[in-house]
Amino acid sequence: MNITVLLPAGRLPLDIMGKARDLAEQYNLGVYLSTVQNLRLINVPDESADAIKGELAALGAQFKGPGKFPLPRVCVGMPHCNLGIIDTEKLSEAILARFKDKAVTKPKFKIAVSGCNLSCSGVLTTDIGVMATRAGFEVYVGGKGGPYPKVGRRILRKATEDEVLEAIEKLVNFHDAHTVKKQRMFKLIDHPDFPYPEAV
Ligand code: SF4
Repeated sequence: MNITVLLPAGRLPLDIMGKARDLAEQYNLGVYLSTVQNLRLINVPDESADAIKGELAALGAQFKGPGKFPLPRVCVGMPHCNLGIIDTEKLSEAILARFKDKAVTKPKFKIAVSGCNLSCSGVLTTDIGVMATRAGFEVYVGGKGGPYPKVGRRILRKATEDEVLEAIEKLVNFHDAHTVKKQRMFKLIDHPDFPYPEAV
């Protein structure tokens, strides 16, 4: 089995990194850095999973699991990329803070944040994509990858951070209200009550 440790903004705390290394050696695990910027321990023996999780949880590790709000996938952004317009880690923190009390989130939408319009984190092909530009934020909804990729529809231009956070909240609530079990955002953007028209 696998154990996935959630890493907000793709940051790997040194104590968790050290513990994961020790556990990988002790239990002969593989260490995979996932495409959504988490740390996954693979080849975990079923009988050792609880012990391994316990050691990581003692350091504050959070694990992937049903109902969790999706961590935004972020590019490295400012000040680590010289094209970055915003600090993407900070915006990721603000998004997560906005939803910290949300007990259950229905799958299966993802969020991406990019520090400029080069979109290294794939904002155009993610359910909710937030792109920083010199004129403010743009927000895209309904993008996806997979065998039939789609580019998201732009719903906001020249937006402030507060407007972005409000929009994400509205979109998440809309998804929640119109989803039975799980669904991608692209299935909702043509709903008659979808809260945003295209921003041209
Ligand atoms: S999207 Fe822009 S800011 Fe982010 S890593 Fe790519 S080039 Fe840098």
